[in-house]
Amino acid sequence: MRTIYVDNNATTQVAPEVFEAMTPFLQDVYGNPSSMHFKGGEAQEAMADAREKVADAVGASPDEIVFTSCGTESDNTAILGTLESHPEKRHIISTRVEHPAVWTLCKHIEKKGYRVTMLSVDREGRLDLDELRATISDDTALVSIMYANNETGVIFPIEEIGQIVKSRAIPFHTDAVQAVGKIPLDMKKSTVDMLSFSGHKLHAPKGIGVLYIRKGTKFSPFLIGGHQERGRRGGTENIPYIVGLGKACELAARHLEEENNRVLSLRDKLEGGLLEKIPDTLVNGDREHRLPNTVSVSFEYVEGESILLMLSNLGICASSGSACTSGSLEPSHVLRAMGIPFTAAHGSVRFSLSIYNTEEDIDYILEQLPPIIERLREISPFWRDYIKASSKK
Ligand code: PLP
Repeated sequence: MRTIYVDNNATTQVAPEVFEAMTPFLQDVYGNPSSMHFKGGEAQEAMADAREKVADAVGASPDEIVFTSCGTESDNTAILGTLESHPEKRHIISTRVEHPAVWTLCKHIEKKGYRVTMLSVDREGRLDLDELRATISDDTALVSIMYANNETGVIFPIEEIGQIVKSRAIPFHTDAVQAVGKIPLDMKKSTVDMLSFSGHKLHAPKGIGVLYIRKGTKFSPFLIGGHQERGRRGGTENIPYIVGLGKACELAARHLEEENNRVLSLRDKLEGGLLEKIPDTLVNGDREHRLPNTVSVSFEYVEGESILLMLSNLGICASSGSACTSGSLEPSHVLRAMGIPFTAAHGSVRFSLSIYNTEEDIDYILEQLPPIIERLREISPFWRDYIKASSKK
């Protein structure tokens, strides 16, 4: 069966060049970079080279890069590390559409006695910056707002937000897990103090992440142990994966223009085709400020899970905006925060493309999906009620 992989916001395939770059470090070049002997030197050198490439991808300097195990660890480190270094402050600000790596942590922090403000979004998934201005106070220890949303692809105006936050001299963290490699970022010109990203979203393997920490930012480590990463994260560095991430960042920089042109036009073709071929279809989120690879669509009166299973049987891998928890299908907190009606949120599907997708992939989806929705609507009681109600009007 042919595989059409359009779930790249969940994870990406490892680029062949990345695999090739990593292989020697899983075999012969196995030294610990802290060791004094030449094997340690080899590892140290490879890590320094990778750190430079990773720093270049976000316009940072190499000593502002801390390697972690994943995006979740980077987010946790930024948030908990900042709270620890500002113990007198008890308030943090985030948003209602963050990934669980931030969202669930904020809920956890709230239970520990912190005040947490989760900013709301409108129907298009956009923030109201006046709400941010109104909620910042002298007690605010940190503002953590994602760069781009993993479900809808909506991009927040991070620099505008940063100016508001920095005018009050408050640390500013952004979860850029979905942004790095897809849109250009330059920390030299940015208001961001800390930025998280993750290798497996940009064609490196799972198990490697990054926290960028601007020079001079007050910070306490989360993993306490050895003096690795200049005392900012204990634990022997994962050299093969660090090397892989370095290669992936180099490739991402090379492919950024392609991501913004070819991938964008494939995404737009898919979106346009779905809207044209399938009635009662909505696009979720601000279509203007959006990642070039992502589209979240809702097919009203059908269930996202059923669509995904039928697509999967045809070799098409996508995601839905609902999670099957304890037997009930709950729409995602992101779509709920946007106020998407249940009938639409239940039938949401996210397609997220990569540079490995082709025109043929999109044609195949556009050929296979319309009859799936038609079949599912034929057996949907909600669709029947909707048709009956519309014919009475
Ligand atoms: N933040 C965002 C926006 C994400 O999309 C993800 C993963 O889906 C994460 C954080 C967590 O990253 P990781 O899977 O590397 O822990």
